[in-house]
Amino acid sequence: MKCPLCSASSGQQVRDEISTSALSARYKAKYQTDIRHLIQTPTVQLIHCAACDLLYYQPLASGDEGFYNSLQVQPWYYVDEKPEFHRAASLIPEGAKVLETGSGKGNFARFLKKVDYTGLDFSTKAKELAAKNGVSIVNESVQTHSDKMPETYDVACSFQVLEHVEDIRGFLEAQVKCLKPGGILIIGVPSEDSYVARSFDLILNMPPHHLSRWTDTCLMNCGSLLNLKPIGLWHDTLQPHHYFDYCYSLSIHALKKWLGIPYKSLDTGILHTLLKAPAYVLGKILAKGLMPGNLPYGHTVVAAFQKPMA
Ligand SMILES: [Zn+2]
Repeated sequence: MKCPLCSASSGQQVRDEISTSALSARYKAKYQTDIRHLIQTPTVQLIHCAACDLLYYQPLASGDEGFYNSLQVQPWYYVDEKPEFHRAASLIPEGAKVLETGSGKGNFARFLKKVDYTGLDFSTKAKELAAKNGVSIVNESVQTHSDKMPETYDVACSFQVLEHVEDIRGFLEAQVKCLKPGGILIIGVPSEDSYVARSFDLILNMPPHHLSRWTDTCLMNCGSLLNLKPIGLWHDTLQPHHYFDYCYSLSIHALKKWLGIPYKSLDTGILHTLLKAPAYVLGKILAKGLMPGNLPYGHTVVAAFQKPMA
């Protein structure tokens, strides 16, 4: 086994193992989508790389168009505004030439003033919608784009995209290739240093949706692996619409620890099922106690790096 970020072959340790049939049943029940043709192995493993701290799934099996179409019908799937947009926008100077990979219909462009924006997305529908708002989207991969447009952009960014990608190293290197010397790379991902890491039954953080998980340490290691200078790392705080999720998950953890039941990211056991009702009540109560001043890290972390001048 070889790490898809740093290529280390030693220090690849299995952290969790999920039954593909249990995962498939959960996707079917929750999102009415069939994933069995996407994952051929009986289990998916979550692997930790001791060299770079990346957590990645084995097999790295991503969703196809049908899979994403079935998620897109969820009203929350494509939000117009993500908390990290504000942070990222503050790093982008006026007049910059900006490339966003996995742009959707280019919502991030609306947060930027007087920039020359290009979005990359595979969706032809996203391209049509963006064109109506005067936003330019190209339907190609960043790897293809980087061959045509090397050293072209002042900023390359992606938000909630890297964790979906099979070719992790290639995806990052292509964005760096698109940058001019001195250009800025901005990455927004779900934080593995937040409550997301220890959620229960959060199948969207598993294949074929998410294929990797990112700690602060791993993000900072990207800097040295890609020969970039770190600029900063920013966490959002827990957003109000996640208060209950956080407290519910905390309650299940507390009850399981109290009963001596080990953590499993996808637990189909009877005891886990029985604990959901008391955890729901506890979660509802605890969520009332969250307020600015005692909020933990939120869902997302943003990391920024600079490409060397020469
Ligand atoms: Zn690694």
